[in-house]
Amino acid sequence: MKSIRLATAWLSGCSGCHMSLLNMHQNLLDILTGFDLVYSPLMDIKEYPRGVDIALVEGAVGTEDNREMARIIRRRTGVVISLGDCAVNGNVSALRNPGGRAATLDKSYANVDWESDLNRLNARVLPLHQVIRVDGFIPGCPPDPALIRQEIVELIKLMSRKK
Ligand code: SF4
Repeated sequence: MKSIRLATAWLSGCSGCHMSLLNMHQNLLDILTGFDLVYSPLMDIKEYPRGVDIALVEGAVGTEDNREMARIIRRRTGVVISLGDCAVNGNVSALRNPGGRAATLDKSYANVDWESDLNRLNARVLPLHQVIRVDGFIPGCPPDPALIRQEIVELIKLMSRKK
């Protein structure tokens, strides 16, 4: 049986969801024996590959780079899962929506000239499923490692039946 090609990606998030993934400890190593990890911020691979079976995506869509990355992931992946509340509903990443980009940058970088960075942020931060089709959701901020494990185990069963 071919191993399952797994990717993890990080859009507008704090990396806490990936920390939760790592917090599976020994369980992560056990699970990864059934996977070929082909792309992740935990690895030094620059380009998202084709033919990915499952992608776990952390973070909301807050920039054009995020949007483009989300579209690439969707085109090249069988099953896309929103990992954590920022991907699921915008969460912390979307806190800038009510006040807007300029007010957020002004508060965050009070003594810095942020004008040139303004257009690097989209007008609104969106959850992943408002940009691309998503096949599943793992909620939580950060998601519970046990919940991530449970979802991955179910996905392994599903993908094994297909391979
Ligand atoms: S859901 Fe929470 S832990 Fe995950 S990226 Fe967003 S803020 Fe960070």
